[in-house]
Amino acid sequence: MKSPAHCENEQAVLVAVQSGDWAMPAAEPLRAHVADCAVCAEVLLVAQYFARERDAAAGEPHVPAAGLIWWKAQLRARREAVERATRPIAIAQAVTFTWVVLSLIGLLVWQWSAVARWLSESGTFRLGLRQWVTDSLSHRRYPGAICWLRPAPCYS
Ligand SMILES: [Zn+2]
Repeated sequence: MKSPAHCENEQAVLVAVQSGDWAMPAAEPLRAHVADCAVCAEVLLVAQYFARERDAAAGEPHVPAAGLIWWKAQLRARREAVERATRPIAIAQAVTFTWVVLSLIGLLVWQWSAVARWLSESGTFRLGLRQWVTDSLSHRRYPGAICWLRPAPCYS
């Protein structure tokens, strides 16, 4: 059996649901028709769904309390003021750091002979880094320090 695609009461069902008259006693003949008509039953189902969604969307918007908005605005204004106030300090620190690093590099290059002589007088530079590390981590100075590097047991 083929159900009809349209019914003459579809529009009436739709208007009754949208206007809120569906639950009124005047809509009783229409409700009786919908109980027997599949097309109008579908229209009623869809119209009620959209009416519920419309009512939910039209609800009161969730606006935070005015005090909370004011407090957040104050925090933001304070944070932005601190950023504005400390920006020159941060720039000065960066410039100073860069200047100090470049000066140290320049000083090292300019006075390299004196620096190399000073380092060669200390044991660290004379022995070389590898020897210094080996000596520093030797088991004589720190028992067990590099035993894991040696194949034979070295604990004594
Ligand atoms: Zn119908």
